[in-house]
Amino acid sequence: MTDDALTGADAPVVVIGAGLAGLTTALHLADHVPVVVLAKRSLSEAATAWAQGGIVGVLGADDSIDSHVRDTQDAGAGLVDEHTARFIAENSAQAIRWLVEQGVAFSEDPEGPLGLHLTKEGGHAVRRIAHAADATGLAIHQVLLQAARRHPRITLRERWMAVDLITSRLLKRSESARCYGVYALDIDSDQVQTLPARAVVLATGGLGKVYRYTSNPDTATGDGIAMAWRAGCRVGNMEFIQFHPTCLYHPQERSLLITEALRGEGAHLRVPGLEGEAARFMPRHDARAELAPRDIVARAIDFEMKKHGVDHVWLDATHLGEDFLKSHFPTIHARCLSLGIDIARQPIPVVPAAHYTCGGVVTDLQGTPSAKRPTPACTVPIDWRAIHCWNVWWWGKRVRRPSATRMLP
Ligand SMILES: Cc1cc2nc3c(=O)[nH]c(=O)nc-3n(C[C@H](O)[C@H](O)[C@H](O)COP(=O)(O)OP(=O)(O)OC[C@H]3O[C@@H](n4cnc5c(N)ncnc54)[C@H](O)[C@@H]3O)c2cc1C
Repeated sequence: MTDDALTGADAPVVVIGAGLAGLTTALHLADHVPVVVLAKRSLSEAATAWAQGGIVGVLGADDSIDSHVRDTQDAGAGLVDEHTARFIAENSAQAIRWLVEQGVAFSEDPEGPLGLHLTKEGGHAVRRIAHAADATGLAIHQVLLQAARRHPRITLRERWMAVDLITSRLLKRSESARCYGVYALDIDSDQVQTLPARAVVLATGGLGKVYRYTSNPDTATGDGIAMAWRAGCRVGNMEFIQFHPTCLYHPQERSLLITEALRGEGAHLRVPGLEGEAARFMPRHDARAELAPRDIVARAIDFEMKKHGVDHVWLDATHLGEDFLKSHFPTIHARCLSLGIDIARQPIPVVPAAHYTCGGVVTDLQGTPSAKRPTPACTVPIDWRAIHCWNVWWWGKRVRRPSATRMLP
């Protein structure tokens, strides 16, 4: 490869990943520079499109940044980086407003802040979750994909799987460390293509697929983290895997998440084979019962499954009524029904499942990676701060360090 091919000033930014992180970055960058976005399978296959419950934001009159940060630290067992949690909480409302401006059809409440209906989930002191019924991620992903497809400076490459970053280290060049672009496998032509880039953004999502039970799509295999590690970036907190307490336990469906908003609205967890107070176990584990943070509920379910020798527990929403369940949880109601489970009439069998990769590439608040050796690469300076790249990682509140990353000089 010649130097010119590698360092051309006209090279695009290559964004690896077409979920919320990748598409948001691309849409913010494309007014300034050409952008190529890679997705290793179809563009629609991403954790983003599967997200159900909604997005946390400090929006309500009864809410505050301090309250959100307190809940985040509590859910993170005091290990949360407070500065990061505060930064995200402070910017959450603006990020949700941006999504509303893009046309995302969140569930509405004329009395609610920004006209949005806010729901509640475990670990939150107040209602602070903007949602689109129980298919929030799909509503967001479709709108952002459409916007990216329409943008003249964004090129979307489906079934292009990034296999490695092209670094001076990989090329065995003696100069100071840089990233020149990406090698990507074009799956349909079975050819590895060389993509020169003025900067590379890693937005490849998590790694849930290394576990037997996971809520994640098949794309979630930690590729970006591995590539960054090979390039010499620091990777951290990989021991922090969040388990979602309630994944459907079913032989034909291994990744159907049952949103915790169901517990937020009053569904109970029960041990199969027991009745009444003996069956409902969460009050024995935590004063907040089913509304305790995810890690507490997941550990309690695991404890009860081992104690009673059962393969799953029940999540019982039958007392919430068919009309309520159909209007608030239409997707889960329909998906379970298609598998023979009528959630208005029978409890749902659930198990904890690997859900969220808290760790990843260690970065600062602007997404700059921390390298064991000085890392990578941007041949043309970009004022990333002006472009608000932080928008890419405010989704959710599992704040330790941002794990969607980009490469800069
Ligand atoms: C079932 C489910 C429900 C969830 N519910 C919520 C919720 O209610 N609220 C909330 O805040 N969060 C929720 N989450 C978490 C949330 O969906 C994710 O944190 C968020 O969508 C991650 O976005 P992302 O863009 O980083 O990754 P993803 O959306 O997973 O996108 C990753 C992208 O990277 C691409 N990719 C991966 N490897 C490569 C490669 N080698 N080459 C090219 N492309 C590659 C994939 O093809 C994909 O396009 C949920 C997650 C799941 C799985």
